[in-house]
Amino acid sequence: MSLSPHFLDELRNRLTLSEIIGRRIKVTRAGRESKACCPFHSEKSPSFTINDDKQFYHCFGCGAHGDVIGFIMKHDNLAFMDAVETLAAEAGMQVPKQTPQAAAKAKKEKDLYELLEDTTVFFEQHLRDSRNADALNYLLERGLSQEIIAEFKVGFAPDDGQALRKFLSAKDYTDKDMIKAGVLRPSTRGGDPYAFFRDRVMFPVPDRRGRTVAFGGRILPDHLRPPQRGDFVPPKYINSSETVLFHKGSMLYGEPTARRAAADGQTLVLVEGYLDVIACAQAGIRGALAPMGTAVTEEQLISMWKMIPDFTKIPLLCFDGDNAGRKAARRASERLLPLLEPGRSVNFAFMPDGEDPDSLIKSSGVKGFQKILGSSVSLFDFIWNFYTQGRVFKTPELRAGVIKQLENEVAHVANQEVQVHYKSQLREKVSETFFKRKEYGFKKRDFGGYGKSRNQGGAVIPMRPPSTKNRATRIFTHALLAAVINHPHIFEGVEDALCELTLSDVALDRLRQNIMGILSDDPLIERKVLIEQLKNSGFAQEIGDICNESVYVHASFCSPSAKEEDVQSSWLKSWQDGHSAGLGNEIQSGWKNVSCEEDEEKLRNLLLMKTSDDEI
Ligand SMILES: [Zn+2]
Repeated sequence: MSLSPHFLDELRNRLTLSEIIGRRIKVTRAGRESKACCPFHSEKSPSFTINDDKQFYHCFGCGAHGDVIGFIMKHDNLAFMDAVETLAAEAGMQVPKQTPQAAAKAKKEKDLYELLEDTTVFFEQHLRDSRNADALNYLLERGLSQEIIAEFKVGFAPDDGQALRKFLSAKDYTDKDMIKAGVLRPSTRGGDPYAFFRDRVMFPVPDRRGRTVAFGGRILPDHLRPPQRGDFVPPKYINSSETVLFHKGSMLYGEPTARRAAADGQTLVLVEGYLDVIACAQAGIRGALAPMGTAVTEEQLISMWKMIPDFTKIPLLCFDGDNAGRKAARRASERLLPLLEPGRSVNFAFMPDGEDPDSLIKSSGVKGFQKILGSSVSLFDFIWNFYTQGRVFKTPELRAGVIKQLENEVAHVANQEVQVHYKSQLREKVSETFFKRKEYGFKKRDFGGYGKSRNQGGAVIPMRPPSTKNRATRIFTHALLAAVINHPHIFEGVEDALCELTLSDVALDRLRQNIMGILSDDPLIERKVLIEQLKNSGFAQEIGDICNESVYVHASFCSPSAKEEDVQSSWLKSWQDGHSAGLGNEIQSGWKNVSCEEDEEKLRNLLLMKTSDDEI
């Protein structure tokens, strides 16, 4: 999918930058320019200026700079295409589709989105209807404010199975569309289709851009709806089934709010249900997300990592403190090991028995919940605790046995760089536990309590001098990046190698990660658009350094005029050669020579490197 520069210009012209920004932060007019307190760094007096004539913003405090698309990408934490679509909707423009088929598909989807939006409004109106006051009172009694109910568009589905159908028919939607959107069920007895959600509190599920794509519905509690005698006990929660717009396994409830929170540097917290997400958001923990009625999937874990703009991505997974919670955590840890990458992990937090975040915030306030989050353990410590807690290892066989189990576990870490560190930490832990202690037993404590809480984000790690002083390394890395920028269509073929190429030059590595992020979202993007996006994300200088003749002269395959069909093979060959020569991958080659703990510590720091730019 590519967009013409003409379309993008038209989009920028239709929008007034200060208005778009003013919908998101407080903007004050000052002469020909507008001013605001910069949303990208913390400040008390405004140094963020907006120039509507020139269509750019600039912050004199932190140097943030860009156009309206760049602002939305950064502020709303969206990929380029999502930012463009968001802005096009605000400008009342249609993003052009390439083929008539794509246009027809988009039209159908648009109708479904509108249907779901109208349904959301219908449910909201019914929650405000005095006949359903008990439903609204129930939410208010649970501690939700009117504001947060409105923000999350919580509603109520009336008991009347035809009410929604009448409402939507009056707006010219067909039964077929309503069934397709998942809000109506066909009757199995030949009668009229009827509402899927009845007599339930409704939670619209927004996609990353905030459009409703599905619903979750909760029954009212027993004191409001005494259970009827009979065989059928309605499930507490039901969700829309899968539709063209709703893919349960890859989406998380709360994504638009959490995305913005992640962009503001808040930690993402995975909780269990709709009400947990809303209660957290109301308490100021706006990075809360929940899977919808299922255990967390690989896709959801990866999606959480993608939402975090920093190099170090460590969301927190929150589980019940009971046996079921531990089992769920165990399953999550099994899913996670093969997915780990340098800088990517999770922490685990366990709720006190019988509490969920919603109830805990109600009983002990947000501080009580934050205390639980603060006592979280790393994935490594979780696994260690899982095998050792509450057990006694009196004999050599038992000790060897548990070590074997842990080694097997560590073998599931697919990323070699991370695995090296898991192995070394395991050795350390085994040695301090079994070779220095007299007692080989572990006290049984709260599941999350053993082992120290690790907060890697807080450590200040010195910047490493750029290794690209070395000329060969520089040309090697520049050429590889230039080829991908100039020929984005090779991405799929080189993705794995590009992923492994961890550059010690911080700016270049961030550029590499940005390229990967954009291309994973949109592998068919055009060169020009890609470059524009990267420049908008603040990489103008790096692009200038990389995409120029002084690089192409050394490696013709990376120039824009190189033959498309040759680029990928030359890229892979060059990568292989450079790789064996140890270029551009000091981190990885460093692993092979880890000789003492100090070196190892250095390498670990390198991987967890958090630069000062990350805070901007
Ligand atoms: Zn700033």
